[in-house]
Amino acid sequence: MGRIRARDTKPELAVRSQCHSMGLRFRLHRKDLPGSPDLVFPKHRLCLFVHGCFWHRHHGCQYAYTPKSRLEFWLPKLARNTERDKENEAALVALGWRVMVVWECETRNKQALQNKLSGIIERLD
Ligand SMILES: [Zn+2]
Repeated sequence: MGRIRARDTKPELAVRSQCHSMGLRFRLHRKDLPGSPDLVFPKHRLCLFVHGCFWHRHHGCQYAYTPKSRLEFWLPKLARNTERDKENEAALVALGWRVMVVWECETRNKQALQNKLSGIIERLD
């Protein structure tokens, strides 16, 4: 079976509450969509993933460090994660969805997160 993914993580809750306060309407974890996106904005045909920097390999991010030991375990595992992310994104795009990612490290600062989300939404309409 598939991976076990944490639901309702702190970064996810931060994104949700920010979207709420911006008056955006969304649904959570639509299981009928590839990758079960964390937030789905039907009006904008937008799927938003909130990705942990380590697990999803945020490029150039300090939190996406490479483990020092058990590389034979970690490297294939992390590679599979990014592969699956790419597959999910391609499948969603093929279904006519737009796909955006908010990284965990971008949710730590409230103002920065608000700017990021506003930027995403502005580009949509
Ligand atoms: Zn990051």
